[in-house]
Amino acid sequence: MRNEAVERMNMERSLKKALERDEFEVYYQPKVRLSDDQLIGFEALVRWNHPERGLMLPGQFLTIAEETGLIVPVGYWILRESCRTIKAWRTEFDWHPPLEVSVNVSMKQFREPDFSDRVIAMLDEFEIEPGALNLEITESVLMDDVSATLRVLERMKVCGVGFKIDDFGTGYSSLSYLQNLPFDTLKIDRSFVAAMDRDPASASIVEAVVSLARNMGLHIVAEGIETPEQANRLRGVGCDYGQGYLYAKPMS
Ligand code: C2E
Ligand code: MG
Ligand code: MG
Repeated sequence: MRNEAVERMNMERSLKKALERDEFEVYYQPKVRLSDDQLIGFEALVRWNHPERGLMLPGQFLTIAEETGLIVPVGYWILRESCRTIKAWRTEFDWHPPLEVSVNVSMKQFREPDFSDRVIAMLDEFEIEPGALNLEITESVLMDDVSATLRVLERMKVCGVGFKIDDFGTGYSSLSYLQNLPFDTLKIDRSFVAAMDRDPASASIVEAVVSLARNMGLHIVAEGIETPEQANRLRGVGCDYGQGYLYAKPMS
């Protein structure tokens, strides 16, 4: 227990210094249109280049960042970095459809009173067209306080920021929020995609979610596509977009 406590304190201390030491890096994972494998955009995924431990994944430090509140400044840094990148890529590459970037937003950051103001200011600062920036929010964040969520989402929707529900199917998926909240995309969690080949129940869930989303006019992104068989099945049930190691890993 003592070792664990010491470990945690060390981690907290180095996490606090990581921003000023410029140790974070945003990796980008390509997202493709499944009908023709066309690149349509990227998901921004944070990495920490730890001076002693090397490359660290979000699973190794995000919980501590959340608990200490450090996720808020780190989150804004990620947003800013992603805005800069998408602006540069949109200027450099004349791509159709225009590339977009999706950024994951944590609960703490989303609940900051000036969150929408700061996002809108960033869009202005980088002169980013509506639709270039999407925010990914997991179900648990939405459900926490639906009316507060609604206020933030509607405000940003006016400015053209897109919203995606991340890891759909893993929380207490309540269908009522699909009806009430202004989302444009559902991301099917990779656990369903991974199980699709061997488990008919998972395949049925994926199929049902895709058809539900389509009927509601939402886009669908499948996460964690690793095999051509999974891609074929997803295409077969009408899933629009996907990302996963089959296409590319997140990269610097
Ligand atoms: P997520 O948003 O659902 O991101 C997808 C995760 O699946 C990423 O893990 C990605 O590397 C991984 N992945 C993508 N394709 C495949 C695949 O084909 N197979 C497998 N096995 N994995 C795949 P990563 O980068 O470790 O991020 C984990 C989670 O940490 C993310 O889940 C997200 O919830 C959170 N996260 C990542 N970056 C950020 C960030 O910048 N801000 C916040 N607030 N959270 C972040
Ligand atoms: Mg995500
Ligand atoms: Mg996800």
